[in-house]
Amino acid sequence: MTDSLQLSLAELQSRTVPVLVPMPASRPYSYAVPDDMDVQPGSIVQVPLGPRQVAGVVWDGETDSVDPGKLRPITEVFDCPPITPDMRRFVDWVAGYTLSPPGMVARMVLRVPAAFDPEPPTQGLRLGDRRPERMTAARSRVIEMAEDGMSWSRSGLAHAAGVSMSVVDGLIRQDIFETVLIPPRPVVPPPDPEYGQTDLSDEQKQAAQQLVAQLGADGSSVSLVDGVTGSGKTEVYFEAVAEAIRRGRQVLILLPEIALTSAFLERFEDRFGCRPAEWHSDVPPRMREKVWRQTTNGNIRVVAGARSSLFLPFCDLGLIVVDEEHDAAYKQEDRVFYNARDMAVVRGHLGSFPVVLASATPSVESRVNADAGKYQGIHLPERFGGAAMPDLGLIDMRRAPPARGGFLSPVLLSEIGKTIEREEQALLFLNRRGYAPLTLCRVCGHRFECPDCSAWLVEHRFRGQLQCHHCGRTEKTPEACPECGTLDHLVACGPGVERIAEEVDRHFPDARTIVLSSDMMGGVRRLRLELEAIAKGEADIVVGTQLVAKGHNFPLMTLVGIVDADLGLSSGDPRAAERTFQLLSQVTGRAGRTGRHSRGLLQTYQPMHPVMQAIVSGDREAFYEREIDERERASLPPFGRLAALIISANERATAENHARGLRQAAPRTRDIAVLGPAEAPLSLIRGRHRFRLLAHGKKQSDIQSFVAKMIENGPKQRGSVRVQIDIDPQSFM
Ligand code: ADP
Ligand code: ZN
Repeated sequence: MTDSLQLSLAELQSRTVPVLVPMPASRPYSYAVPDDMDVQPGSIVQVPLGPRQVAGVVWDGETDSVDPGKLRPITEVFDCPPITPDMRRFVDWVAGYTLSPPGMVARMVLRVPAAFDPEPPTQGLRLGDRRPERMTAARSRVIEMAEDGMSWSRSGLAHAAGVSMSVVDGLIRQDIFETVLIPPRPVVPPPDPEYGQTDLSDEQKQAAQQLVAQLGADGSSVSLVDGVTGSGKTEVYFEAVAEAIRRGRQVLILLPEIALTSAFLERFEDRFGCRPAEWHSDVPPRMREKVWRQTTNGNIRVVAGARSSLFLPFCDLGLIVVDEEHDAAYKQEDRVFYNARDMAVVRGHLGSFPVVLASATPSVESRVNADAGKYQGIHLPERFGGAAMPDLGLIDMRRAPPARGGFLSPVLLSEIGKTIEREEQALLFLNRRGYAPLTLCRVCGHRFECPDCSAWLVEHRFRGQLQCHHCGRTEKTPEACPECGTLDHLVACGPGVERIAEEVDRHFPDARTIVLSSDMMGGVRRLRLELEAIAKGEADIVVGTQLVAKGHNFPLMTLVGIVDADLGLSSGDPRAAERTFQLLSQVTGRAGRTGRHSRGLLQTYQPMHPVMQAIVSGDREAFYEREIDERERASLPPFGRLAALIISANERATAENHARGLRQAAPRTRDIAVLGPAEAPLSLIRGRHRFRLLAHGKKQSDIQSFVAKMIENGPKQRGSVRVQIDIDPQSFM
């Protein structure tokens, strides 16, 4: 081959690029770059894919040596900052770790296609030289307002002048204004790190300094802020946020229930003079576009968001805070199965910046890492301002049982009475939505079950519905039993929050009782209002599910009653004890945050259970020690590795056969064992039959390669069969 021929081949090569498209493709596809087009790795482009046009990202590396003449060309490059190199490496890393197609991870980054084009400027009005022929009082107010020479929006000007829009429109028609283009406004002003500084206690100061020091050091690090509820973890990590802002870096604060944490947003505003940008499923589409766009162009400095905000295309991310790092809401179990807490640590590592994890009840995994010195452990063992922790006690339900048909022990009822007499608030916690978890016919014993899921239908009496909590199917509660036709003989079995509220109403008819659960009517807006009302003391008794456990500050809440402390302990989940401990500590931590004497009472039939003992003795260290010890002996995470495969199909036998085939395809190694297939505890969801396999390996084992080989060598996926891979599973249902 002659020199000149080689040169032209190289030239041809440089005109093709790999593009990652948001599809379940295992690798980027090759595209030709038109001569007049300028692209670089990270550029967001539009490409043809089959008959469609899709958005993708120009990826790193070489394309296969194909003739660009044979490739389809890129259609368009969006006028959008390119996805940064560390974000691209993050996408590849997450794909490799979770065994997901990289395209599906990229899809999480490219979720807002409307934001790839720059935000259009809005039209503004500026006063010109002409004046109206006929002057009115309203008109002169408008002109007076506009005489400042600034550009105004139509509605803004009408509002400022205190006139109706038609007055402004009348002036527009007379060419009184010049139209000017106003650049898109930032969704939030820049936060001011010196705005509302808090006087930290010595202990808090020291903790804050330890975090701030990490921002000064070049490179990645992880700190675990482990402090009891009310110790000031938020105040402390705000100092790290302030330092990152001073250094001109962007910050991401991950929160488990962002939709509900208006209290958090207000505290942020008190400290930084403005709210952070929000990112979660309740942000309206237009706002999402703005937030996505302004995260990538750097107009937004701080985002507070749910787990999916980890995939926002920050241009200069310099700190991630994961609040309530132990929370199960960080785990996504859909398409790409990932834990946002763990992936945040990876993101920090790839981007060479610090990550702060905060919790009053850290996960065992994070505790072990802190104990081993892999994470910087920062402790805040006391509540701020000397506020006492609530007195915690157990109610032995065998000795002080509730009255017939009730669920609240006389001991708890009497405490509620005393609390509301003092004009303080009581919280009753039960992690069960609806009225009753099971409904049956007293005459024939018929149980209401979801036809598509292996689950009982849950009665929601306030709405007159029976609902499946797995697929969302609802039906009207019938008057007659569908089996035997008897009228009015349906009975509710077991309690949900609605039923507890009913019991409370019977005992305290004059008290103001509020039920809070994630499925209440009116959605998030209503919930936020209710939470604010509670904080202001506009309720006496609150009956709530999990969502009251998180981050709210109710100053008058001095009694927390746990209706069924045993509820989470019975599942076959290896984290059941940890989860129960975390949830109960979190809920009882709601009490007495402002110095009043407060109590937490746990109704249990197992008062001697180690979880109950750990909570009431206040000896959380002993609990962690024991829990860590048990995990180590059983080689469970973080001392071993787990990966689950969930195999589902329309027919039971098809799912089971496929699962068996996968199991047979498992490589033989002494380091990793495969358990199952076993029928999943939730054996039917939305009409799909489910089986599970669990790979359990030693700590150093390469569980990803192992699972990948099972899939590769296992039976071909046909028909309705679907296989989901869950590395580090949290749920075993
Ligand atoms: P945590 O996140 O550990 O539960 P918070 O940061 O929410 O604790 O603090 C608990 C309460 O104490 C909040 O109302 C907070 O405003 C207050 N607080 C904590 N530290 C200080 C401080 N140094 N000065 C004033 N108030 C503080
Ligand atoms: Zn269902």
